[in-house]
Amino acid sequence: MIQFTNVFKRYESGHEALQNVTFTLHEGEMAFLTGHSGAGKSTLLKLIMRMEVATRGHVTIDSLNLNNLARRHIPYLRRKIGVVFQDHQLLFDRSVYDNVALPLVIEGMNPQDIGKRVRAALDKVGLLSKEKLNPIMLSGGEQQRVGIARAVVNKPPILLADEPTGNLDPQLSAEIMQLFRQFNAVGVTVLIASHDLDLISRMGLRMMELSQGSLKQDGAYA
Ligand code: ADP
Ligand code: ADP
Repeated sequence: MIQFTNVFKRYESGHEALQNVTFTLHEGEMAFLTGHSGAGKSTLLKLIMRMEVATRGHVTIDSLNLNNLARRHIPYLRRKIGVVFQDHQLLFDRSVYDNVALPLVIEGMNPQDIGKRVRAALDKVGLLSKEKLNPIMLSGGEQQRVGIARAVVNKPPILLADEPTGNLDPQLSAEIMQLFRQFNAVGVTVLIASHDLDLISRMGLRMMELSQGSLKQDGAYA
């Protein structure tokens, strides 16, 4: 589902953010991406979303070769990928419902189908009763769950998260991770960038560790 083959990424500044990174994340797998700040985690996620392009090597997402993906096919790629951010990037000028509906509105889906999808997504994250509220009324953990509902509302086969529990306490972080697990259990391929090693060790999942742009370790957390 996600395949990196000898991937290098050098920014215009000359900084080599990724060096010779090779890994495969199969369909239905769930893994963590860890490493110190500056190790290259965000760069790796941006290559998957085609927000950046590899300088050398190959990135393949769900059999799309991103090295020669036509610009017009980028929206098609993005629809396959749900993204959860640390700061959730919710819009505080509209309701929880409208936040979650946004990706579907942009896709041009009809309002009836949007209603079904949005309620299904809110139900999965346990926030069906809060659809009319403004997200500013919600706790940090609830806001992050709205962000997750928005990321999965168009049923993407891939879910990426960049430090999704960075602002949450351990209890709430564990709950958020359980949600990712639930999506993984129904077949979604999940990759989570995090440096919360406590949390990662408790999950007992595959962990890929980046160090100065290189994949230093790939396997069960030890
Ligand atoms: P992480 O997410 O692990 O903190 P990043 O992928 O954000 O790491 O960054 C990896 C390295 O690349 C860092 O040294 C960072 O300063 C550098 N970097 C990130 N984005 C850019 C950019 N747009 N231009 C130049 N250097 C960048
Ligand atoms: P740019 O015009 O700079 O390339 P993008 O279209 O890549 O901007 O992305 C705009 C914003 O939407 C970014 O913050 C990006 O991380 C986010 N984004 C991109 N793809 C998705 C997705 N599938 N789901 C959620 N957010 C996304």
